[in-house]
Amino acid sequence: MIILDLEWNRGYDKKPIEEILHIGAVKIDHLGGPIVDTFNSYIKPVIHAKMDIGARKLPQLDDYRELGTTFPRAMKAFRAWCGDETEFGSWGGDDRRAIDQNCKYYRLPSFEMPVFHDLQRAYCHAVGADGQQIALWRAVDYHGIPDIFCYHDALHDAMYTALVCQCLLPEDLAWKPVKVKRGRRNITFSDLTYPKQPRRRIGPFVDPVAGASDRTARKPCCPICGEAVGISRWSYDPKCKPGQQVYYAPFRCSEHGYFLTRLTMAEMEDGTWWGRVTVPPLSEETVRQYTHIQQGETLICRAASNSKRRRRPRKKRSKKNDE
Ligand SMILES: [Zn+2]
Repeated sequence: MIILDLEWNRGYDKKPIEEILHIGAVKIDHLGGPIVDTFNSYIKPVIHAKMDIGARKLPQLDDYRELGTTFPRAMKAFRAWCGDETEFGSWGGDDRRAIDQNCKYYRLPSFEMPVFHDLQRAYCHAVGADGQQIALWRAVDYHGIPDIFCYHDALHDAMYTALVCQCLLPEDLAWKPVKVKRGRRNITFSDLTYPKQPRRRIGPFVDPVAGASDRTARKPCCPICGEAVGISRWSYDPKCKPGQQVYYAPFRCSEHGYFLTRLTMAEMEDGTWWGRVTVPPLSEETVRQYTHIQQGETLICRAASNSKRRRRPRKKRSKKNDE
């Protein structure tokens, strides 16, 4: 199995990509076995003009700038190093998304991980914390592993992940969260008539989920009085046509009752996603579409895309201090 970890920079501009700056990985024969090989590659930042708050704290940032290669070269070396390995794992699912994004950005073939384990999810299951997102440093601390390597270094984090995951059993890897199907709530929508509501354009986003998590998208206003209401989950049909995703969410104005908000995300030719959000008229057609979509899946909005990084502590010590 290959355990990988990435560091990246989201920047502050509109280019919707988490630019990978560091690929670190370790090879193990099996979970619990020793680390038999390592991979480490720095990538020179070229996409965003500014570093986001998480990237600015990366201990190897100067090395990425001075010694870094290009992403296509790093990826080529990484593919060669991986060989015909089919099983991969990473602490959380964000790394897989970032690698897909970057390959797409550079028009490289996608990086196939035929078997992918979200080791954070498996670990949380193993320690009886299903559904939580325990930070890697907490798991390291819990196991009494000496933290002699600095965090936020992709290779070090991959090593830590391999060490804390030594306790995992095959059944932990196989565990999947049970999808809670919420019973169909019977909502009585408001029968008040209201003028046609504006459609707001939002974007660009890296994927439809990012759009659905956007704060503007999640703050529909009552079409009668304008009261803003926050929503945190959307219903959607997972079998929507490619390049498009429609989300619906009911919301309630304290004075005027229930309404629906609709978010339509569409993929542009450059691979970015843009959305239109509105409060549609409660026509029969709208309600029928909502009723259909409500039987699909539920998306619980995540906060910002860098949540993984923010939850981790500042590095314990920098490499520079060690030298
Ligand atoms: Zn109202």
